[in-house]
Amino acid sequence: MHKKYNKNNIFFKIINGEIPCDKVLETKHSLAFKDINPRAKIHILLIPKNPYLNLNDFISSADKLEKLDIFNAISEVVSLYNLEESGYRLLTNVGKDGHQEVQHLHFHILGGQPLGSFIKKLEIN
Ligand code: AMP
Repeated sequence: MHKKYNKNNIFFKIINGEIPCDKVLETKHSLAFKDINPRAKIHILLIPKNPYLNLNDFISSADKLEKLDIFNAISEVVSLYNLEESGYRLLTNVGKDGHQEVQHLHFHILGGQPLGSFIKKLEIN
């Protein structure tokens, strides 16, 4: 486990069943559930069940089956909500600059309406 991984994070508690979630899909290695504060008509979070801090940690430490599983799970969520045609946005925030609030890897799957351009234009110093 990554030395910065803290088991007090909310997604670890969801995986362990300590706190509930609005589950959308569960596979061997991944769990998808509705975001509690949806930023679009469809806003699903997809997380690996094993404790990974962020995408870097997952890429360097997860095994091939977990990696395959999470990509298949993305595809399943997309099918479940019929997002192939209309499109969607997949994103993961990493670390401080990425504004990652929950310190367990999660992918946001957003859709169900036009999402506008990528992110607001930032001031570049
Ligand atoms: P991020 O800023 O990328 O770390 O996103 C964290 C996301 O987790 C936010 O969109 C929150 O609304 C969402 N979130 C926090 N707590 C819960 C919860 N208990 N159930 C579902 N989503 C949550």
